[in-house]
Amino acid sequence: MQLTADGPVVGVVGGGQLGRMLGEAAAPLGVELVASDPTPDPPAAPVVSETLQGAFDDADTIDALAECADVLTYEIELADPDALERASEAHDTPVHPAPDTLRMIQDKLVQKRHLRDAGVPVPEFRPAGSVAELREALEDLGYPAMLKARKGGYDGRGNVPIESPDDVETAFEQVEGQAMVEEFVPFERELSVIGVRGDGEQRVFTPGENVHEEEILRETVVPARVPEDVRERAKSVAREVLDLLDGRGVFGIELFEVSEARSASDSSSGRSPREEGEISVNEIAPRPHNSGHWTIEGARTSQFEQHIRAVLGWPLGATDRRGRTVTKNLLGDVSEPRPAALDGAEAVLSEPSANLHWYGKREARPLRKMGHVTLTDDRAETDELFARARELRDDWTFDR
Ligand code: ADP
Repeated sequence: MQLTADGPVVGVVGGGQLGRMLGEAAAPLGVELVASDPTPDPPAAPVVSETLQGAFDDADTIDALAECADVLTYEIELADPDALERASEAHDTPVHPAPDTLRMIQDKLVQKRHLRDAGVPVPEFRPAGSVAELREALEDLGYPAMLKARKGGYDGRGNVPIESPDDVETAFEQVEGQAMVEEFVPFERELSVIGVRGDGEQRVFTPGENVHEEEILRETVVPARVPEDVRERAKSVAREVLDLLDGRGVFGIELFEVSEARSASDSSSGRSPREEGEISVNEIAPRPHNSGHWTIEGARTSQFEQHIRAVLGWPLGATDRRGRTVTKNLLGDVSEPRPAALDGAEAVLSEPSANLHWYGKREARPLRKMGHVTLTDDRAETDELFARARELRDDWTFDR
């Protein structure tokens, strides 16, 4: 690698908060970003050198990105792998992670098969392309179960729990077509590991514990409040997953820590018993992940810097933690869309262990990710940090 006055240019499909934080991480390295986004003034606009307006899957926009960039990447799964491949060939601009990996991840059924066939632990699942196929699958899996749209779901949209045979038809109507169904995992906790594939090297960060409400991530606690051996197992499963992917970049690997209760019900239902603290993979994101925002202040190298280094083929940074960390999402707690205006951030700014990230979105919508706050403090226990983060939450409001 060689650093010059005109840094390399990374073209990013997507200019949301992830694009913005990529831009913030790229600047100190002398790396320039160009982002494409369907909106004219996305969150990344102030920190990138140019924004191209166009849909995430628009071939002409992706082609224009490839033309002006040294490497192409994406911060959203809606990027079109075919268009990325064509643009990459036309302009001799590499794409990372590999379009094939994006294609595999975009379809939850294909993704789960890929993991299962490689021996990675995943929940039991079946294809569900019709009501009849769904009913048959549920005879094997039992109730409750989770029906998932194969493509396009995010933040739990596209997931429908099925409690009993009476729910089957209405659940299927909600996923509109191609779907898969999974056993309902009575997990103890949701964990995630941020992993990064570089040029001939790979690294994983400390596993985080993700607290969800209404299927939306509220907080990430690092290190996850689980025994050391569970954290080690989570890391080793994450490494297995990274080995199955192609191309370079950061991946968010979402995991379930399967509970003890599950072990008991398994033996009574005739399924193979599971060990306590067993890890099962929920899904992979081929990009920096919300549950990795803690790495900005909490780790030696952030997930965003790692992604920039990785896609450029530069050496990866150290993943060690700087301290115990809790990240709390700042979600739009509005009842309907309205211009974004946050009050009460003074408390966050006055808190010595806290750092505020405000994404600059113009409109607040119910549960929209508007920003986040990270607390890092190695002198405090994680439970105390968690409580402090929730207390700060009481001060901010979109409603005044
Ligand atoms: P999305 O792709 O929309 O984020 P996920 O498949 O990750 O959807 O699911 C969102 C949330 O739904 C998970 O974080 C978890 O809380 C819950 N969930 C998903 N699959 C299962 C399952 N098989 N059993 C129990 N809960 C699940």
